Amino acid sequence: MTPGRRTPACPICGRPTDPAFRPFCSQRCADVDLGRWLNERYVIPDPEAPDEAPREPEPDA
Ligand SMILES: [Zn+2]
Repeated sequence: MTPGRRTPACPICGRPTDPAFRPFCSQRCADVDLGRWLNERYVIPDPEAPDEAPREPEPDA
């Protein structure tokens, strides 16, 4: 253990952080965190749902 300054662990993978990518260890982990943040922030549309709502054919009355 080193007294004084302590390198916090990357919240994504737990590796020592890189000052260039604080608080992450790499650009990759920063992207991962950003992706998580966005996923929590925005509602992802259901991929199963069609882009256009299917219109039922009107009965030939
Ligand atoms: Zn990391």
